Amino acid sequence: MGMGIHRSSAAGCPASVPRVARIAELLDRGRTFSFEFFPPKTDYAQLTLGRTIAELEHLAPSFVSVTYGAGGSTRARTHAVVEWVRKETPITPMAHLTCSAHSRSEITEILEKYAAVGVDNILALGGDPAVGAESLPPSEYPHAIDLVEHAASFGCFSIGVAAHPEVHPRSPNRATDRRHLADKLRVADFAITQFFFDADHYFSLVDELEALGVSKPIIPGIMPVTNRAQVRRMAELSGAEFPAWLAERIGESVDEAEVSRIGIEVATELCAELLEGGAPGLHFFTMNRSGATREIYSRLGLPVA
Ligand code: FAD
Repeated sequence: MGMGIHRSSAAGCPASVPRVARIAELLDRGRTFSFEFFPPKTDYAQLTLGRTIAELEHLAPSFVSVTYGAGGSTRARTHAVVEWVRKETPITPMAHLTCSAHSRSEITEILEKYAAVGVDNILALGGDPAVGAESLPPSEYPHAIDLVEHAASFGCFSIGVAAHPEVHPRSPNRATDRRHLADKLRVADFAITQFFFDADHYFSLVDELEALGVSKPIIPGIMPVTNRAQVRRMAELSGAEFPAWLAERIGESVDEAEVSRIGIEVATELCAELLEGGAPGLHFFTMNRSGATREIYSRLGLPVA
């Protein structure tokens, strides 16, 4: 499941550059298994990420993705990691890109730079308002759909979008949330979800989109609990529920190794249920560590290179 270089002559995407596999095409061929990283801030963190990617390479991921800091705070670092994966590994990369706080010309420049190095996979996101955003002029991209349409105008990008099974925290209601997601997916190729702990949240999302006439692949995002405080904090920010049954299963344990063991067990059960129910892949939020993902892979009996 390597890079599958191809050539493209689409507008804005130089035909002379070998291009990475497009995720839409990987999904057409079968299930994808993918890993998400964030761009490291320090030399030490960079070494950790390099080691993690080397360890996860053995799992033959369909693609890996690299997050983008709200307001463009990791613009150069995200590009550097994506380009490094593209040039130094056989893995297909996808760049996250958020549009809030960026002008159209900045977004054009960022997309052109990815196109120039043959990276044709973009996760087009709204992003959360940057600190101090209230004092800035209104964004040229009110919503992620505006970025999706801009990226689509290049003609070469395979475009993913974010989906929120438990409804985005800023959505006034479930129906509006689903309607806007369906609109994004009519242009984009696939979605990756925010993490969740009950498979029913995912299956309801898929059913609700189908009822709106949208059946593009929705890849569930998997966040194994390895550290209780961190996941609780992330759940609060993302609007995902930290369910009572999970809190109970973790119990009063203060031993992080025990929390991680239970987290891996719970994530494995969730992955198995999702795959059995027909999910088109799994996307792991790795937090730049390989241990939990490798363990879940092994328990699920997924193929290793
Ligand atoms: P949007 O699609 O713009 O949606 C945001 C809100 O606006 C929703 O309530 C939606 O219903 C509403 N809305 C959408 N369109 C319209 C419309 N036309 N009219 C009125 N309302 C509308 N954040 C980062 O900063 N960096 C990352 O790298 C990153 N990676 C992520 C990866 C995944 C897999 C996921 C699920 C999320 C990620 N996020 C990331 C978080 C994401 O940026 C936030 O959740 C953000 O608040 C919303 O992004 P969105 O793309 O869903 O935005």
